[in-house]
Amino acid sequence: MTKFLLLLVSLYVTTFFSQTTNSSWIRYENYVDTLSSNYFKGRGYVDNGHLKAAKFISNEFQRIGLDSITSSGYLQHFKTNVNTFPTDIKLKINDQSLIAGLDYLIEPGSVTCQGIFEVLEINLRNWKSFTLNKKNEHLCLLIDVSNVENKDSLLIYNEIKKVLNKKYPILWIGSENLQWSVSQYTLSNAIIKLRPDIIKEEIKNVEIDIKNNFITSLETQNVIGKIMGRKKKNIIISAHYDHLGMMGNVIFPGANDNASGVSSLLNLASYFMKYKPKYNIIFICFGAEELGLLGSKYFTENPIIELENIKLLLNLDIVGTGEDGIAIVNAFEQEKVVQIIGKINEKHDLFSKIKLRGQAPNSDHYWFSKKNVPAIFIYTMGGIKAYHDPLDKSVTLPQNKSNELLKLVTQLVNKL
Ligand SMILES: [Zn+2]
Repeated sequence: MTKFLLLLVSLYVTTFFSQTTNSSWIRYENYVDTLSSNYFKGRGYVDNGHLKAAKFISNEFQRIGLDSITSSGYLQHFKTNVNTFPTDIKLKINDQSLIAGLDYLIEPGSVTCQGIFEVLEINLRNWKSFTLNKKNEHLCLLIDVSNVENKDSLLIYNEIKKVLNKKYPILWIGSENLQWSVSQYTLSNAIIKLRPDIIKEEIKNVEIDIKNNFITSLETQNVIGKIMGRKKKNIIISAHYDHLGMMGNVIFPGANDNASGVSSLLNLASYFMKYKPKYNIIFICFGAEELGLLGSKYFTENPIIELENIKLLLNLDIVGTGEDGIAIVNAFEQEKVVQIIGKINEKHDLFSKIKLRGQAPNSDHYWFSKKNVPAIFIYTMGGIKAYHDPLDKSVTLPQNKSNELLKLVTQLVNKL
C-alpha cells in the first residue's frame, strides 16, 4: 500500500514536473502566415520581395535580441543575375485564356514574346530530319514529350534548337506536374510549359504575351544573427527565406518552401535567447537558394566565422508538415548526430519515422558539406503535395508537427 502510494506520488511529481517543463517551453509562433502573405510577393525579385523578407527577418532578429556579426548589421550582401516576369502575362490557346500558374508556366529563362502564332507540332520521331518548308515567321512550335521515354527536356530542346536555328516560341507538354523555378540565365526564346491534361483538341493558334526583365548584378543578401554560448565552437541553424517570387501577377507564396523553415528558425532563436546554449548559435536565413543555393555558396566562400569552428550546420527547408515523419540528408556522413536524433525522437515520441538519406545537393547544407563542415538537412514528410506552385500556401499547410520539430532541434543542440 505504502509502496503503491509512493509510486502514485512519484508518478504525480513526474507528471507535474514534465508539465512545468512543457509550460516553460516557448509556444511555437507561426511566422508562416506573414512570410507567405501577398506583401512579400513570394520573396523573390519582383517588387523587392526578397528585400522585404530580409528586412522582416532582420527586425525579428533585433526584437528577439540576436547579436549581429557582419559589417552591415544582420545582412551579408552578394550579387546575382536573375530573370523576372514583372508584368501581367497572357496565354490564349484557340482563343481560350489559360490560367497562369495552374494551366501553364513560363520556363524561367524565357525571353519576351508577344503576338499571335500559328502552331506547328514537331513530330518527335523524325524531328532530326525536320526542316521548315513554311516561310511563316509567326510560328509557335508544339512539342509533346508526355509519351516520350527519354524525357530530358533540355536535351531535346537544345537539339531542336540546333536544327531549327530560329527563335520560335515553344509550347511544351511534359508529363510531370508543373513546378516553377527561377533562373540566373536567359534562353534565346520563350518556352511555355502546359499542364498535360489541359489540351483536349488540336491547337491551331496561340496568343502569347510575355515580357521578361533580366536583371544583372542584383544585390541580395543573407540574414545572419548570433547567440553567444559558453564554448568557442559554433552551431549554425539555417533556413533559406527566398522563394520564387512572381510570374506575371501570379504569386508563389512558398509557405512550406521555406517560410516554414524560417518560422522554425525564429522560434529557435527565441528559445535559445531564453535558455542560453552551450555553443554559440549562428542563425542564418540564406538568400537566393532557389537560384542555385547562391546565398550559402557565398557564405562558404566569404565566411565571417572560421568554417573549422563549426560544430554542426543544421539546415531546415520544407518543414511545414510531418505526419509521415522527417528525412535527414547527409545522414550516413553524420551518423553520430543521427543517433542522437533517433534517441531524442524515441524518448519524446515526436515523429513516426526518420528517413535517412545520403548526400544530395538539394539545399543550403550542400556547400558546407563540400567544405567538410559537418552538416545535415532536415525536411518533414507527409501532408500537402504543393511544391514550387501557387498552391504552396499557409492556409493549407498543416504545421501540426512544428512543436515536435522545435523540441527535436533544441534537444539536439543541447546534446551536441
Ligand atoms: Zn526550399
